[in-house]
Amino acid sequence: MILTNEEDLKLIREAGQLAGRVLELVSNAACAGISTWELDEMAEKAIRDAGHIPTFKGYKGFPATVCASVNEEIVHGIPNKKKILKDGDIISLDLGVSIRTMKDGKKFDFIGDTAITVPIGKVSDSVMKMLNATRQALYEAIKAARGGATLDQIGGAVEDVGNEGAYGIVRDYGGHGIGPDYHEDPFIFNYRTGSKTKLKPGMVIAIEPMFNLGSDKTRLKSDRWTVVTQDYRPSAHFEHSLLITEGEPEVLTKRPSEVIE
Ligand code: MG
Repeated sequence: MILTNEEDLKLIREAGQLAGRVLELVSNAACAGISTWELDEMAEKAIRDAGHIPTFKGYKGFPATVCASVNEEIVHGIPNKKKILKDGDIISLDLGVSIRTMKDGKKFDFIGDTAITVPIGKVSDSVMKMLNATRQALYEAIKAARGGATLDQIGGAVEDVGNEGAYGIVRDYGGHGIGPDYHEDPFIFNYRTGSKTKLKPGMVIAIEPMFNLGSDKTRLKSDRWTVVTQDYRPSAHFEHSLLITEGEPEVLTKRPSEVIE
């Protein structure tokens, strides 16, 4: 989707800002002793209190507001009352906010999609380094995501950071265009593909690198949602939604306290 009119831009910014605010709230609340279920409830309440819709709840049958993925879980972990965080864990939290409008009698959603991985208490140096590298890979990809840049350049920016730390760069999942029905083309690879597809001003996209401490290989658990590393080593995931412009992109889901550098 390409957004050009001011009213649409206002709504996509509002969706992104709320997503960033809620993700900051929930990630700050993540601590030893709390369940992933409680974090999910907090996120859903914050989104609904603002008068908007948690994008993921019911999307293709996903049962919750937040994807909460702990340690070896890469993405799409389902919040659970029995999943209690403990010191030394890492948790990836991914959420979407939809602002629903009507266009020509049909629903049309403006969506902000964003993720962060945070440590719980003290985690090992190697895990902390992987987490920081995944965040930096997102930031390098954001710097590369100017109007006219190719998908190869975005993937290359992520791949270079991943290779520097010898991380497993997850290939089975990646970023995407954002449209009124959430995911849309193009698929945004986290590695070089040679793709000459160009980003155009007005496009809304999500970039979301995932790095593993071990191999890049993934496995889908029997719940049909949770994606884990095949070797059960930990994984990190960061994501922002961007509005592509002629120059630097606008980071729609920037969190209030976040400094992108
Ligand atoms: Mg996404």
